[in-house]
Amino acid sequence: MSLNRTTRDEWFRNKGSVLVIGYARSGAAAAELLTRHGFSVTVNDRLARPDSDETLERLERAGVRFVFGDHPLSLLEQSWLFIVKNPGIPYHMPLIARAQERGIPIFTEIEIASWYTNSPIYSITGSNGKTTTTTLVGEMLDAAKMQPVVAGNIGTVVSGLVDSVRREQPIVLELSSFQLLGTEWFHPRIAALLNFYPAHLDYHGTFEEYQAAKWRMFRNMEAGDVAVLNRDQPLVAEGATSLTADVHWFSTEQLDFEHGAALVEGNIVLVKNGAHRVLLPVEEVALKGRHNLQNLLAAAAMAQAAGAFDDAIRHVARNFQGVEHRLELVRTVDGIRFYNDSKATNPDACKQALHAFPKDVVWIAGGLDRGISFEDLVPDLRGRVKAAILLGETKEKIAKACALAGIEDVTLVSSLDEAVAAAKQRAVTGDVVLLSPACASWDMFTSFEVRGSMFKEAVHRL
Ligand code: ADP
Repeated sequence: MSLNRTTRDEWFRNKGSVLVIGYARSGAAAAELLTRHGFSVTVNDRLARPDSDETLERLERAGVRFVFGDHPLSLLEQSWLFIVKNPGIPYHMPLIARAQERGIPIFTEIEIASWYTNSPIYSITGSNGKTTTTTLVGEMLDAAKMQPVVAGNIGTVVSGLVDSVRREQPIVLELSSFQLLGTEWFHPRIAALLNFYPAHLDYHGTFEEYQAAKWRMFRNMEAGDVAVLNRDQPLVAEGATSLTADVHWFSTEQLDFEHGAALVEGNIVLVKNGAHRVLLPVEEVALKGRHNLQNLLAAAAMAQAAGAFDDAIRHVARNFQGVEHRLELVRTVDGIRFYNDSKATNPDACKQALHAFPKDVVWIAGGLDRGISFEDLVPDLRGRVKAAILLGETKEKIAKACALAGIEDVTLVSSLDEAVAAAKQRAVTGDVVLLSPACASWDMFTSFEVRGSMFKEAVHRL
């Protein structure tokens, strides 16, 4: 089947049967949206039917059918206009693979949502910094009184809200490569690509395929739409030539472009039609870390392209303290600043956090052992970390890295409460206590969010 707009118009006219694979929140929202718009929807999930589930009961009353307990190939005996697949389900799963062989189009929920909105979509993807940048853009447009709605990978399922968003409200969307792979006509008006780091190669196969999934975001964009790209990463910058959208840039290193945002001589500068405006000095930016400066510049370039006024962008740059669990300033106690970076679930992320502070860091780290070594962190620890408080499965391994970095004050503890108390004992006015575990949380906690929240509670009890 060739996919063109006529095919889709035919679906809209005649409706028909649609299969939703994966009954997570996004599957439920897509099923509800499609049912409301006249399609006949079946939802399939490998798990058993949940015992009591209000959403499921509501969907059944609306006419949705459910097939639980397996992904049976027999589902393909019926004909489907298209399939909506949960982004986490791989394409090699037999039911999906067989459906693809038969030419049944396979979408993710963001594609479906985009059919039912006239709001401008401003989307953000990249390997790192998506949530921070998406939140910043949302805050900037909010400060500019544009009443944005923030959704996508960040938490709120966009299919669940498109029917209630007014057309003048922009939708700001955080998108993963998994979500983008299932798009066809998805068309953002402004879209930012932050960076590429090798990730999710188990799903995408190769680094090239992973990048291609992210570039899909731009394929329906036209002249007059705006692609916001990272000028400092050649992998991203080189892709600009193949885009139809106008390109705006963000950069912490250079200012050789007509539109975008850059860091120039210690100032955040906005550029439009080649003219520069200083927004504010970097030292007034509340966010910590060079990586966050990149996120801020990307967000400022997007907000400018969306028509936000400078004061709104400046206000957010000056006041935004960070997304929860990402270098989030929790509290200052006796002149000691406590930061929660629980989202640093690997050494690379932890490195970014360490670099935000030149010295006098009391570092709390450790967690699930994935068999990796922490020796890569040694240069980042040396001279910067004055004491380390370690917990979790990896505490001994990290203690070895600390020894190599010349850190003499290393304490092994068995709970986060103990860690916070030990950190407070060691820190003096002017120091930073940084929870940046460099490990996943699952050895002791159910998620990095729970770990971060428990840390914050312990800090608030001090
Ligand atoms: P994502 O939503 O893409 O996972 P987040 O905004 O949640 O990104 O940030 C997660 C972690 O990624 C941060 O704690 C930080 O260590 C790292 N990070 C954030 N932004 C960047 C960036 N622009 N470049 C490199 N690393 C970054």
